[in-house]
Amino acid sequence: MKIGFIGLGNMGAPMAANLATAGHAVTGYDTAGVSVDGVTPAASAAEAARGAEVVVTMLPNGDILRQVAAEIVPAMAPGAVFLDCSTVDVESARAVAEEARAAGLSALDAPVSGGVGGAEAGTLTFMVGGDAAGFEKARSLFDVMGRKAVHCGPSGNGQAAKICNNMILGATMVVTCEAFALADKLGLDRQAMFDVVSTSSGSSWSMNTYCPAPGVGPTSPADNDYTPGFAADLMLKDLRLAMQAAEAADADTPMGAAAMRLYEAFVEREDGAGRDFSAMLPRFERRGHG
Ligand code: NAD
Repeated sequence: MKIGFIGLGNMGAPMAANLATAGHAVTGYDTAGVSVDGVTPAASAAEAARGAEVVVTMLPNGDILRQVAAEIVPAMAPGAVFLDCSTVDVESARAVAEEARAAGLSALDAPVSGGVGGAEAGTLTFMVGGDAAGFEKARSLFDVMGRKAVHCGPSGNGQAAKICNNMILGATMVVTCEAFALADKLGLDRQAMFDVVSTSSGSSWSMNTYCPAPGVGPTSPADNDYTPGFAADLMLKDLRLAMQAAEAADADTPMGAAAMRLYEAFVEREDGAGRDFSAMLPRFERRGHG
């Protein structure tokens, strides 16, 4: 397939490389002038998009996605698929999809879970909103870049699934970290705490797979001095998107709001920027120790 790929950052570069390795003709563009093995560089986003059957975007936020969409939609051929894999606000996803559909394109919002490791290994999960025909056309690309793609309904629903999932993740990570810090103060051994909770009703992905306590449970960023992994900054971004969506939809999300405020303090006023999102545990440990 002839593919345009726009946004060759930490996630986009390995995703584009995997598509090229699978035999697709990939033309890529990034404002930072990144070059990726097997990907033909283009001079602009429009040039990467022209003549492509599918254009994949992997960009930082909704404003940039809207700018890029304004540039590439007129360059794309009717019937082509605009496949946005960035994590953006639901409103931007729906606005861009509308613009693409008006130009005769298929539009999919397909944010991912799995991080840079999943992008490199081709094991991402895609949560996809948009028309069924576009989903079918893009299916073989999802199979190359990931392990699972779930069609979640019309445009914007992929982003909705992503922010709901990450709101649960942010809140469970915070409460798992505060529970470890409480257990410390109560004199409960961390290994014993893990052994009980990981097989009890307090278990979650945050405890069982990504345990925030070093030396306990499977290897996780906690065992690597909280080097991300999934950076606290990105968790904050996703929690803000969730709160923005909750406000627009008049949904009551007090736990999500509390998690957002904690990550905001951690990233913006403490030392959390650039650390893994599970580094909330040392943050709670410090409480009461000056
Ligand atoms: P990144 O900052 O590494 O990459 C974004 C790239 O977009 C950069 O290389 C930047 O130069 C490029 N860019 C910015 N404006 C552009 C423009 N107008 N035209 C072309 N290129 C432009 O970010 P990332 O970690 O690759 O994340 C990309 C998206 O994936 C984000 O929406 C993020 O929330 C989401 N995501 C990231 C992870 C992760 O673990 N990194 C996991 C899941 C989802």
